[in-house]
Amino acid sequence: MEYNKKVTIMDIGFLNASLQDLLHNYLFPRLNRKQKTFVVTANPEIVMKTRENAPYRKIIQSADYVIPDGAGIVMAAKYLKNPLPERIPGYDLMNELIKFAELQGLSCYFLGAKEYVNEKTIVEVEKKFPKLKIAGNHHGYIDINDNSIANSIASTEPDLIFVALGMPKQEQWIAKHFDKFHKGLFMGVGGSFDVLSGELKRAPQKWINLNLEWLYRFLKQPIRFRRLLKVFEFIFKVILRK
Ligand code: UDP
Repeated sequence: MEYNKKVTIMDIGFLNASLQDLLHNYLFPRLNRKQKTFVVTANPEIVMKTRENAPYRKIIQSADYVIPDGAGIVMAAKYLKNPLPERIPGYDLMNELIKFAELQGLSCYFLGAKEYVNEKTIVEVEKKFPKLKIAGNHHGYIDINDNSIANSIASTEPDLIFVALGMPKQEQWIAKHFDKFHKGLFMGVGGSFDVLSGELKRAPQKWINLNLEWLYRFLKQPIRFRRLLKVFEFIFKVILRK
C-alpha cells in the first residue's frame, strides 16, 4: 500500500515514514516495478541551501521522496508538532538498498568520491555483497554538465544509481540527467563512499543512538564547523517561522 503522508519543513515535504516503512511500502515495490525514483536524503544543510537557491529548491521539491537525514530535521518536526518517526541516515538506507539489490539480482552503479576512494568502495562492496551485480563505477570529480559520462552510465542500465558528489552537486547531477535513463532509483549519498570504503569511520552506534552523529563528525573533521553553523541557523529559522 502506498499512502501519502508528508511533514513540511521550510517548504520541503518530508516523507513521514520509518526506514522499514520506506523500504517495504515505497522503495522495494518501485524497484520491483522498475519505476524511476529520485530519493533525497535531506539534512538541515540541504534545507538551508534550498532557501538560498531557488533552482535547487525546485530540484529537491521534484524528488519522489525527501527523507530526514539529520537530527535537526527530526527535532524541527517535533517542535512543529508534526513529528517524524525517526532519522533515516542515508548511509543506512544505501546499505539496505544494496542488500535488496543483491537478493533480487538488481544492478548498482557507484558514481562519486575521489578516484581511489571510489575504487576502494567497489572492493569493499564486492566483499560485503559478493553476489551484487555492479553495473559500473566512476569517481566524482566530473563536470556535472558532462553528458557523455551520464550517457555512458545510462548505457549500463543500472537499477540503482548512488551519487556521492556531496550536496548540491549530487542532486543537480541527478536532476540534469534523470531523463537519459529508462529506469533506476537515484539517490545522493554524500560522503557515504568514504565510509563504505573504510576511509572514514562512522560514529560509534551509541553516539548515533543519542542523535549525536553530527557532533562526532564535527570532532573528527573540525573543518566542517560551517556545516554546524548551518544546523543552528536552520533551527533558529524554524523557531522564528513558527
Ligand atoms: N565529491 C565528489 N565530487 C566533487 C565534490 C565532492 O565526488 O566534486 C565527493 C567527496 O569526495 C566526498 C563526497 O563527495 O566523497 C562529499 O562528502 P561530504 O562529506 O561533503 O558530503 P555530506 O555527506 O556532508 O553531504
